[in-house]
Amino acid sequence: MSQSSQVFNFSAGPAVLPASVLEIVQQDLLNLADSGMSILEMSHRSRTVDQLLHDVETDVRALAGIPENYSVLFLQGGASLQFSMLPMNLLSVDQPADYLVTGVWSQKAVHEAEKVGAVRIAGSTESEGFIRIPRQDELSCSPNAAYAHFTSNNTIYGTQWQDAPDVGTVPLVSDMSSDIFSRPLNIERYGFAYASAQKNLGPAGLTLVIIRNDLLERSSRSLPSVMNYATLVKHGSRYNTPPVFGIYVLHLVVRWLQEQGGLAGIARRNERKAAKVYAEIDRTEFYQGIATDDSRSFMNITFKLPTKSLDEVFSQEAAKVGLLGIAGHRLLEGQRASLYNAMPESGAVTLASFMRDFERRHG
Ligand SMILES: *Cc1c(COP(=O)(O)O)cnc(C)c1O
Repeated sequence: MSQSSQVFNFSAGPAVLPASVLEIVQQDLLNLADSGMSILEMSHRSRTVDQLLHDVETDVRALAGIPENYSVLFLQGGASLQFSMLPMNLLSVDQPADYLVTGVWSQKAVHEAEKVGAVRIAGSTESEGFIRIPRQDELSCSPNAAYAHFTSNNTIYGTQWQDAPDVGTVPLVSDMSSDIFSRPLNIERYGFAYASAQKNLGPAGLTLVIIRNDLLERSSRSLPSVMNYATLVKHGSRYNTPPVFGIYVLHLVVRWLQEQGGLAGIARRNERKAAKVYAEIDRTEFYQGIATDDSRSFMNITFKLPTKSLDEVFSQEAAKVGLLGIAGHRLLEGQRASLYNAMPESGAVTLASFMRDFERRHG
């Protein structure tokens, strides 16, 4: 158990899971709910998995306040498959989609959408190295766009939309892979939201998709069936075998989130955790935050030390005291501490005191 042995996993993804969830997985693994079988061995059409799919959807809807006119899907292929499936289903040849570009993941989404239809860039901070989120007055969204896509949290740069952009009546689409369920979600502002599980929801191999039902009408029958949202909704995520184990772990994570006070409760805790680490960055010139103040992420905190060699020593020494996975993404270097939902407050406190101590010794 990572927390009990005083190792803190700051990896950007796959990432830390709640220790109590891992304990339940361990207890259940050989014999789930007196079935005599492991979840890993069970038919996706068994009664146990029927019940699981029913319960997980009910609990996801309750946690995030997802009303009946939205469908919830449990898919495979990661967020990256959604970069393609989304335009294949929702984009038409004569109506462009707007994309707000705030980092590599947004760029990849654009790259895949361009293979399918017309894309307009309605905002970008690329010229500034993606260290901030564009302001509303910098966006040039079209009222006729097929949809408007943005990346709510930019895992690599440590930037996060503090509020979703206003795109009028155009269906708003968000890649929420690295901050889903980290704060209250007003899903009614969105037409479509998706997230791969391995940052904030569970193991890799599962993607959560939330789609407003009127948009299902856009899915053409000529699409491959496993990529057709209307088909997948019609079959309740079981057109083919869904990632059953990932869905089971996601369900435990969702129940754990309810115990933390739901999305409002976890948001308060996430703010406290992030504040502890940002306070160290703001206290001294020794640590330089990468994201601008108004765009700071509560999930991934990026910063640099005065020199590249000190950056290397920092992540090496951090690992020696059990603070793992802090070295920054290869594109930005520096440090990146990911404080996803499952990172306990003691992890943020330990990192902050390590930062103070490291500055004392090397500053
Ligand atoms: C990690 C990540 C992805 C990629 O997810 P895959 O499951 O590897 O496809 C996409 N978008 C964002 C914002 C991410 O953080």
